[in-house]
Amino acid sequence: MISIAMGRFCVECGVEESVNTPLFNNLCLKCLLETHDLFEVRKKIVVHVCRKCSSIKAGNKWVKADNIVEIHNLMNNILTKNIKSMLGIEIVDISLKPLETYSSVLEVEVRALISNNLISKILRVNIEWIKDICSSCLKRSSRSYEAVVQVRAFNYDDEIKEFKNTLIHAFQDNILEINELNKGYDIKVLNVHTAQQIVDEIRKKWIVKTVRSYEKQYRNREGRRRGKPYISVRIINLKSGNRLIINSKAYIVSSIMNNSITLRNSSGEEKTLKIRELVKLL
Ligand SMILES: [Zn+2]
Ligand SMILES: [Zn+2]
Repeated sequence: MISIAMGRFCVECGVEESVNTPLFNNLCLKCLLETHDLFEVRKKIVVHVCRKCSSIKAGNKWVKADNIVEIHNLMNNILTKNIKSMLGIEIVDISLKPLETYSSVLEVEVRALISNNLISKILRVNIEWIKDICSSCLKRSSRSYEAVVQVRAFNYDDEIKEFKNTLIHAFQDNILEINELNKGYDIKVLNVHTAQQIVDEIRKKWIVKTVRSYEKQYRNREGRRRGKPYISVRIINLKSGNRLIINSKAYIVSSIMNNSITLRNSSGEEKTLKIRELVKLL
């Protein structure tokens, strides 16, 4: 009796089985990847996005929009939980391509091991984005602001505009909203303490003149009650050519040198004083 040792081969393309080309379900790995859905997504992935601050929730936890690494991990975890292999193949890892908010399809690379050979497949996963309100925005919307910091400047330049982002970052849990105006912005804050901290931060960077006033004053039986404090912070970033009023008289800034400023009045007379002194006069 003659026996011929026949190697197994792929039923699809005919390649013979070897160490480098193992067969799985009578298919070589290349044909297996092409003809079978090896992985499935168990259920629709639902992601909540806060309509106010763009925080993201998948599962139970809200993650702030600027925390890209954590959002990526969050999405990766939810995908890892929900992507299963169909033929008992061992999934090694799942990695999400860069996340695009509101994109209805996400691309995910799934890597798996078949007979010690690493295979990789790109899955397109449907995502449902739900507009929602995150827990901190909800908490915030149910509270009202207790003070307003009015940031104004002689020259509302990019540095002051961008400083708004620094403030939002540092005090995001206590800033209710920021209203953009022509010559500055109003910051509504949840407590007076934060208002003072914001004023201090501005004062570290610029020479300022602050004036505190109150929304309204009224009396009740217990006595005088004060309304919300409004802290006006005027940034004294004068440039030559700026006009200003001191004691009801108009001046034009002719020059600024270090800490001194030279002003010209309507008769063309000039006087020089320290900027700190000028602040007291404004
Ligand atoms: Zn094949
Ligand atoms: Zn939010």
